[in-house]
Amino acid sequence: MQSKTLRPSPITPTVDLDKQGVQHGFLRLPYSRDDSAWGSVMIPIAVIRNGNGPTALLTGGNHGDEYEGPIALFDLARTLDVGRVGGTVIIVPAMNYPAFRAGTRTSPIDRGNMNRSYPGKPDGTVTQKIADYFTRELLPRADVVLDFHSGGRTLDFVPFAAAHILPDKVQEAKGFDAVKAFSAPWSMRMLEIDAVGMYDTTVEEMGKVFVTTELGGGGTARAETVAIAKRGAMNVLRHAGIVSGKIDHRDTRWLDMPSRDCFSFAEDEGLIETMVDLGDSVKEGQVIARIHPIGRTGIAPAEIRTKLTGLLAARHFPGLVKPGDCVAVVGTVD
Ligand SMILES: [Zn+2]
Repeated sequence: MQSKTLRPSPITPTVDLDKQGVQHGFLRLPYSRDDSAWGSVMIPIAVIRNGNGPTALLTGGNHGDEYEGPIALFDLARTLDVGRVGGTVIIVPAMNYPAFRAGTRTSPIDRGNMNRSYPGKPDGTVTQKIADYFTRELLPRADVVLDFHSGGRTLDFVPFAAAHILPDKVQEAKGFDAVKAFSAPWSMRMLEIDAVGMYDTTVEEMGKVFVTTELGGGGTARAETVAIAKRGAMNVLRHAGIVSGKIDHRDTRWLDMPSRDCFSFAEDEGLIETMVDLGDSVKEGQVIARIHPIGRTGIAPAEIRTKLTGLLAARHFPGLVKPGDCVAVVGTVD
């Protein structure tokens, strides 16, 4: 995938990824700027290692305005008992750390969307350098990879864990098994709008077991969704045989995204009126949202009709939309 002539990553870890025990440190990425001539971006990382068992890589903050992952992972890094670990747990609670600090989806440094920057570049932007470090240094160590997402400021989701349909059916089955172990209220066989540049794609192309999530959104986290994230992380570690103890199985219902017909996009700007709530059943052709023009009175709203029968899995969060915004995602129920 990567040519051998790539220069080394500029990132220096302050932890030893091979050392036994619990370490809290940083991935230090040089970033020279006005307020810090020889400064660095300091990305928090925890390494919890006991013996030579399998390795899990757990990440949040791939997008900086999604909070269930960072909350669950800062908490896990502090509380995970190394005595219960048989292997290695690498935790990076906020992968796109500059974006996380700014509370924005993309990095304030280079506008980099981390999940469109993979596999990254060692001589690229700050965001691309972080991606490259994961691709070449962290991911090769991992057997199982869990990356937390939520809807951020502009989307809200029914809480689900997800894996992708993959060409390798053995790898695909392992992904869905790990999703089942995660035990979110919903489990998704996921379709991406455009998989190019995604962490997910890089991880899966390396043959790793990969679980992602969408646990809520709106630029915040709720007690319910944080609890799902915490339980899910522990369950995936138990499922991988890295942490001892029984999986806390909960009922989950499977959703599918069978085609691009899942997605509805706004073609107008205006005030969005949702006609159904997250988790509600919808029927093909049903009006699920209306977009009211806001320039003048007396004009009928545009109607958004779902092309599928299923349930509302995601919706636009802010009250105003513009052309091109994703306004709804409908999943079909297994
Ligand atoms: Zn995200």
